[in-house]
Amino acid sequence: MNGHYENGDFFLKFRNETLFNDTNSIEECLRNFDKDKDQALDLNEFEQLLKSLFSFKGNSYFMQIPKIKTMFNFFDTNKNDKIDLFELENFWFKMVKPTLLPKSALLIVDVQNDFIDGTLTLKKCPAKHNGAEVVPIINNIIDTVPFETVVYSLDWHPADHCSFIENVHYRKIADNSPIKENIKTLDSVIFEDYPNIPQRLWPAHCIQGTHGADLHPNLKRVDPKTDPMGRSVIYVYKGCRSDIDSYSAFFDNCKLNETSLRTDLIKHEITDLYICGLAADVCVAATSVDGLGLNYRVVYIEDAVRGVDLKDIENQKRNLINNGALLAKSKDIYNMVTCRDRRPELGYATFLSLVGSKND
Ligand SMILES: [Zn+2]
Repeated sequence: MNGHYENGDFFLKFRNETLFNDTNSIEECLRNFDKDKDQALDLNEFEQLLKSLFSFKGNSYFMQIPKIKTMFNFFDTNKNDKIDLFELENFWFKMVKPTLLPKSALLIVDVQNDFIDGTLTLKKCPAKHNGAEVVPIINNIIDTVPFETVVYSLDWHPADHCSFIENVHYRKIADNSPIKENIKTLDSVIFEDYPNIPQRLWPAHCIQGTHGADLHPNLKRVDPKTDPMGRSVIYVYKGCRSDIDSYSAFFDNCKLNETSLRTDLIKHEITDLYICGLAADVCVAATSVDGLGLNYRVVYIEDAVRGVDLKDIENQKRNLINNGALLAKSKDIYNMVTCRDRRPELGYATFLSLVGSKND
């Protein structure tokens, strides 16, 4: 490895709140990358810094030059084509801090009996997935990864919920509904009453308080009182109102009502969401999209999800990548959460939220 790295990774030791906040650390960073000793970083030196920041075991991730230039120009506030110590301090707290000192939550979406072997078992959906397969993968993540917080979301419907095919005759179908007769499971209809959007129809599932709505019995429940890693736990219930569905763990499908999730994540100062569970192309995707919209850095754990329809799963994955999410495998999560493995995609997401907030 070249001389830019200390034990292969210059930034590793700064994953410590006190050392990170010490102004000497910023000066040390400047000295380390300022190869021509002019007390500032030119574009090439800044590029080396970014490649060191976004690396794993001393190996840099590929970063596109235009993206590096955009970041350089953003932080070069006095436009002298150099990042001086003052500008580096801004970069240090805005970009390096979320990279080295994130607060990460594992968000386990709807790993409930009805989606695994109950009334809405994924085995009977077009992709014929077995939802139970995510349980040991998620348990292994719970056993090994020191998240700040573990979130369990639950689909939690009243018996008269609008998403149940069994209830379709209790509501008037609107004139503009795409389907009005011979309505079947998985069809989308528009009901005359509020809210005037297509509602996909599913078999009755996850009715509040029933066995089908319970989390799968083999899924590990973190107990904050006894957890060896000291993690906090959040439970979030969604789809609780009769006349509107909620795929996302943050909002209902019209964004008229918000769940408790965002407030609880703020309490724990969470910055990064690692999302897994059921169903990949429905509730996992909707939760990930809303997480991105709320400026969380979102990691979608590809092998810890199962879904309804293969084509929809792929489309949603593409959509998530386009919106700034990172797709990762469960085996990589430990090194990412402990910031040994630092991905540029999450850095771009941080940067975009900075640019966005500047334009607000
Ligand atoms: Zn539901």
